Amino acid sequence: MVFSALFTGSKISANTVPEGFKELRCEHFVVYYEEGVSREYALEVKNIAEKFYRTITGEFNLIRDKLWLWENRAKIYIAKDKESFLNKFKCSEWSAACVDYKGKKIYTYPDDKRFKPVLIHELTHIIFREYVGPGNRALWLDEGMATYMEDKYDKGAYSRQLKFLKKKINNNEYINLPELNDITYKELNTFSQEKVALFYVESFSIIYFVIKENGRHNFWRFLYYLKSGKNTESALAAAFYRWKNLEELEKQWKRFYQE
Ligand SMILES: [Zn+2]
Repeated sequence: MVFSALFTGSKISANTVPEGFKELRCEHFVVYYEEGVSREYALEVKNIAEKFYRTITGEFNLIRDKLWLWENRAKIYIAKDKESFLNKFKCSEWSAACVDYKGKKIYTYPDDKRFKPVLIHELTHIIFREYVGPGNRALWLDEGMATYMEDKYDKGAYSRQLKFLKKKINNNEYINLPELNDITYKELNTFSQEKVALFYVESFSIIYFVIKENGRHNFWRFLYYLKSGKNTESALAAAFYRWKNLEELEKQWKRFYQE
């Protein structure tokens, strides 16, 4: 599981190679890797990023107006270790990576076992927001999309957490959907580890449920309504008539995981 953060800014200035970093340019990405990170690692990151740039875009047909070429390439910053990552970038302590989706920048540090899910997760954040537009979106939606893709294309890390969710639902200890819908990034940072985990698993489970019930094509309609300016609740109602509000979605979502 990747706990990643949507985020806000960094101490690194745009469009220059940061001091102590090397640069690797490719078709849709520029990778900056700090001294101490091997070139092989940076190359692996590059290959996975290029591959999933296509996969994620294709998954929900998220056509973009402007390709990520030349000055529009995304940037990946790899610090040499966790300490340097926390020092150089403004990411949360509990995160393995974070992303500035407007600037198309991903910040991370080497972790051989996790760099694939980390990249899939962060790239989904950027590609999803690029499609639906910046606006004021519910955080669970961003995290639900990112964890869904991470789960699907890595090792099912979130599917394995569904037992935990089921228990929470049965004990009535889950976060209800209207409440979930209001959770901001700032609030998330004040939660206990367990509640953060619950937030991510719930976000994943809702996207998973909605796609499972309606199919990928109809899910695309939901994204299209979001893009056209509807908020989460009205986009849901427009795309899937039976869910007129979050409470109705919650009822069926609960039933799905209780069975
Ligand atoms: Zn995330």
